[in-house]
Amino acid sequence: LMGSRGESASTAPAAPARRIVAVGSGKGGVGKSTLSANLAVALARLGVRVGLVDADIYGPSQPRLLGNAGSRPEAHDKVMFPVPSEWGVPVLSMGHLVEPGRAIAWRGPMASGALGQLVDAHWGDVELLLIDLPPGTGDVQLTMVQKHKPVGAVIVSTPQDLALIDATRAMSFFDQAGVPVIGMVENMSGYVCPHCGESSDPFGHGGAEAAAAEAGVPFLGHIPLDLKIRQDSDAGRPPAAGDSPQGKAFLAVARRLAD
Ligand code: ADP
Repeated sequence: LMGSRGESASTAPAAPARRIVAVGSGKGGVGKSTLSANLAVALARLGVRVGLVDADIYGPSQPRLLGNAGSRPEAHDKVMFPVPSEWGVPVLSMGHLVEPGRAIAWRGPMASGALGQLVDAHWGDVELLLIDLPPGTGDVQLTMVQKHKPVGAVIVSTPQDLALIDATRAMSFFDQAGVPVIGMVENMSGYVCPHCGESSDPFGHGGAEAAAAEAGVPFLGHIPLDLKIRQDSDAGRPPAAGDSPQGKAFLAVARRLAD
């Protein structure tokens, strides 16, 4: 990245007043990156000055989700400037620094150092920095909670039992680190068939809400499993930027988060 960790720390802007909120999940593929991107876009629409860090160092997806994969961050004195996106959300991701398809084969300390450079960038007047964490509870997540001190965490899970066990583990990780869990979001919750209109629940329904109640953490809402969410996400058009029913589902979660 941009020089050693020490250099970046000494040249980073002093004492930012911004708050950091981590978005985590116990396992991959539950829609954590999709939710992070859309929450950021929805919060920006609600008037919050929000920035997004893609902390999934080994598997970045935010440049594609926000449609700015071709852009490179500029840097001054080895401190990066976030990359703007069309949706009012500046973002930094390893995906902006490494060619697509090229593997990042780094041990934990290198990845944690990279995270530091993404977080301690020139975020300017951003007041809320959302962090799309990698799935699970490894080195990058530990550095995140210990060094960057998020004010809270949002946990994403599907309604499925297995995913929920992992989500509960993620909650316990934040709990042990002294980071309050702001709430839980149930993604891939209910599927409406685009052909016949019938609604079904491939991963079950309501499981995350029940798990949140059991853990005593707020439930922030359901996002349906929806072909349009997948298609628009792949095309770099976050559904939360529009007023479709899919967009409104993300906006509803963002409103509860902003409260
Ligand atoms: P994670 O960050 O948890 O690994 P992603 O956000 O990358 O998960 O999502 C995994 C895949 O599922 C992506 O192809 C994404 O487009 C798709 N996806 C996520 N949420 C939904 C949803 N609510 N409806 C349809 N597809 C979704």
